[in-house]
Amino acid sequence: MDLVIMGGNVLTMDPQNSRAEAVAVEEGKVTAVGSNAELSKLVGETTEVVHLAGRTILPGFIDPHNHFSINTLEPVSVDCSVPPHATINSIADTIADAARDLPPGRWLRGWGFRTERLKENRAITRWELDEAAPDNPVCIMDGSVHACYANSAALSLAGIDRNTPDPPHGLILRADNGEPNGTLWEGAMDPVYNLSLRAHLEYYGEDVADLVYHNCMRHLAYGITSVGDALVVPDAAELYRISDSRKMIPITLHQMLGAEGFFAPPQRVSRGEVGDGNVSDRLRGGTMKLFMDPVFPSSAYTRHHAGGDEEEVGEIYYTQEVANSLVSQAHQRGLQVAIHCLGNRAVDRALNAFEYALKARPVEEPRFRIEHFTITTLSQIQRARSLGVVAVVQPGFHFTRGQRYRDRAVDMAGDVRAIPLRSMLAEGLVVSASSDYPCGPLPPLTGLYAMVTRRTQQGGEPVTPEEAVDPLEGLQMYTTGAAYAMGREKEVGSLERGKRADMVVLSHDPTAVDPDFIRDIAVEQTYIEGRLLYRR
Ligand SMILES: [Zn+2]
Repeated sequence: MDLVIMGGNVLTMDPQNSRAEAVAVEEGKVTAVGSNAELSKLVGETTEVVHLAGRTILPGFIDPHNHFSINTLEPVSVDCSVPPHATINSIADTIADAARDLPPGRWLRGWGFRTERLKENRAITRWELDEAAPDNPVCIMDGSVHACYANSAALSLAGIDRNTPDPPHGLILRADNGEPNGTLWEGAMDPVYNLSLRAHLEYYGEDVADLVYHNCMRHLAYGITSVGDALVVPDAAELYRISDSRKMIPITLHQMLGAEGFFAPPQRVSRGEVGDGNVSDRLRGGTMKLFMDPVFPSSAYTRHHAGGDEEEVGEIYYTQEVANSLVSQAHQRGLQVAIHCLGNRAVDRALNAFEYALKARPVEEPRFRIEHFTITTLSQIQRARSLGVVAVVQPGFHFTRGQRYRDRAVDMAGDVRAIPLRSMLAEGLVVSASSDYPCGPLPPLTGLYAMVTRRTQQGGEPVTPEEAVDPLEGLQMYTTGAAYAMGREKEVGSLERGKRADMVVLSHDPTAVDPDFIRDIAVEQTYIEGRLLYRR
């Protein structure tokens, strides 16, 4: 036996939710789970023995919706997050400081910008960015990843000027005189985003793998052992291929493939004109991702009026016909389809497309994914269940802006609910939790805290407490549910004989502490295939 971990509080997350004291590992796989007495018999001369002194060990957290290729560049980008920044000036000063150290012409990336949290409650303009960084193209990513803010050099490299029409799924915001003001919503950000990513691949060459490795280690520090990148453009795929060939991806990274642009229709993936993203044991694929509704200017909702009238609110990306064709072509080829739906009207369109695809090619477990599923109704949840849909939710969204989602649900009236996790479980839907980092907070324990307490970052009373789940149910969403969403439930998600020994050791048992303490629980160790890769 290579490794025997003893004296633990083992949450196996198996179908019976068994508990144990010890786990034995050989060649990266769990070979036995049981009592200290039983497993001590497996200790041989070369066995490494770890004593947990009562700490809790469970399967590594799985984060199937995360913007890993974007947040990989954080250490070489300017931190524009709000907070700590509170004003445009403060962000502009930070950008100016960073620009002074860059050679002219080199792309400057920023991350974490949030208009609605700034004192001015507006975006930074291209002219403010020009002043801060006169000699460098600038691309500041919005924290939602649905917009970016560009200066004149970046706009010009991307070929965006006053005569450029808005792209199909996006808006170029303009000043009164018709000039683009630097804010690029949704599909309008694609060219600037792509150029800045491409440039960083060129600046770093093979060394981009170090950035990917560093990001993997950051995730391991939160107990995350598998990640799904929720939108991989071709240059992000290249970033991963380089990293994988240099053996710099210690976690499992699942690529959800999109089009050439972040928000463009993934037609080529759907038609099978590009590979499915399966590269190696560490770098996987098999999923197509598309966006059904935007963040800017508004997601796609249905508002219910007394008397049964329905009003369409916000934008939607695809007509039903186009959605049906994208989804069914991918489904025909055996690709998993994941659709971003924030609003209830987007959910309807996605469900219709899933139904259409399933009629053409019935399969037992289609494992369609709805990403976010944030504002929805009970009947939609029931319909999703009948179509074999997995809900990939973000409890961290409840933590950062639960009140706003609740208000939105109330505004849409009818039976509309916000992040209704209890309702989803009650209807038998498979639910997977995820971070959607940087859109939501990265630590799974923050998400778990929010799901269980329904409390938010702003403090005060719980928001929609009727949708709370218990800690064990929440942990299932980060382990077994998430493994199912990624098609990996036979391999990871629970500590059972034959599964990978991806494990996390916590200072406290989330099912036993005061729920308010859950987000203060420390991640002490993280193992990948029985190898200790993170220690607090
Ligand atoms: Zn996302």
